[in-house]
Amino acid sequence: MSEVFTGSFTQQEPIPEAGIAAALEVMRHGRLHRYNTAPGEAGEAALLEAEFAAMVGARYALAVASGGAAMSTALRAVGVRPGDKVLTNAFTLAPVPGAIAAVGAEPIYVEVTEGLVIDLDDLAAKAGAADVLLLSHMRGHICDMDRLMALCDAAGVTVVEDCAHTMGASWAGVPSGRHGWVGCYSAQTYKHVNSGEGGFLVTDDDEVAARAIIGSGSYMLFERHASAPPREVFERVRYDVPNVSARMDNLRAAILRPQLAALPGQVARWNARYRAVEVGLRDVPGLTLIARPAAEAYVGSSFQALLADWDGAAVREVVARCAARGVELKWFGAAEPVGFTSRYDSWRYAPVPELPRTDRVLAGLIDMRLPLTFSLDDCALIARIIRAEVSAVYQAGAAG
Ligand SMILES: *Cc1c(COP(=O)(O)O)cnc(C)c1O
Repeated sequence: MSEVFTGSFTQQEPIPEAGIAAALEVMRHGRLHRYNTAPGEAGEAALLEAEFAAMVGARYALAVASGGAAMSTALRAVGVRPGDKVLTNAFTLAPVPGAIAAVGAEPIYVEVTEGLVIDLDDLAAKAGAADVLLLSHMRGHICDMDRLMALCDAAGVTVVEDCAHTMGASWAGVPSGRHGWVGCYSAQTYKHVNSGEGGFLVTDDDEVAARAIIGSGSYMLFERHASAPPREVFERVRYDVPNVSARMDNLRAAILRPQLAALPGQVARWNARYRAVEVGLRDVPGLTLIARPAAEAYVGSSFQALLADWDGAAVREVVARCAARGVELKWFGAAEPVGFTSRYDSWRYAPVPELPRTDRVLAGLIDMRLPLTFSLDDCALIARIIRAEVSAVYQAGAAG
């Protein structure tokens, strides 16, 4: 009798009771719009921003409607203009190139490594072609940020970080999102805090913060922000920044504030689950685990591994056999995007380059979410199932 897993890979935990109570409070008083505040009231969105800035040690934080909105607002605020080129990872999620396209710019894709991070040699080769890098810490993997920043500083490239999977993570003790000029985060259901939709950006730069606040739709009510530069900075930019409405509302902010406070504990729980899967998948012939650098303090909210150089039919066989036992694996090597899009060649509104190194990595890349509704026993069971099915297919000789 082979074991079957019956949990759901898309079921997150409930919103904490404190968040539910705060959300009810907002609904009862009815002031959902972030600038609709009573005299003397800061409002949930403004309080959330101050707390987020403090959490990552940034001067300013802005809460917005989505991670994608955070990135396009950030790109506009650092000065990206229609027709500009923006460097980004060839392996990321669709909202990343989408944010570049939203400001009328064009992505230049950089290869990714077997460690699933941006290839710094390829980045060095392409750095002269753009003034901005939208760096995606895809699936929570952080590249050597010291080397990346040295390279970008030397080339005059401004770094905007996509931290959708690294909220709560750090590199060499520096919170993810705090190496670059702007850090962007998502509060969409499958990220590390959940308001359905939502996002943040953080920066230390006065003018970028002012541009982002006005750009995300402040209707000249920027003085209601608790986390904002002085008024004179807004005076310098207020007539020059278009309002592209993408505000966070008080209802979502109310749901998020208790989750931010709980994040460190949640990170520890995710990492315990990640390690349970990792231990269960050690030394499986044909399966390569992703090495995690010592400087990287990650958040193990999803798990990746490589069936390196397997042929497509054999990978499909593993995915199907795991699915039959209740384990949902994503495969990034499929020719057509299904349910998600994460490959540069799925984004045909922009030029599609030749990226053989990325193609080779993605051809063998499998991935799964690890929601906190899974127990450690669940994670061990999932690992046993993957181990058995990878081994069966590998031994049948179908692999490469
Ligand atoms: C989820 C995600 C985002 C942002 O997504 P939104 O749905 O716009 O909040 C950005 N980058 C990556 C890699 C993501 O997975």
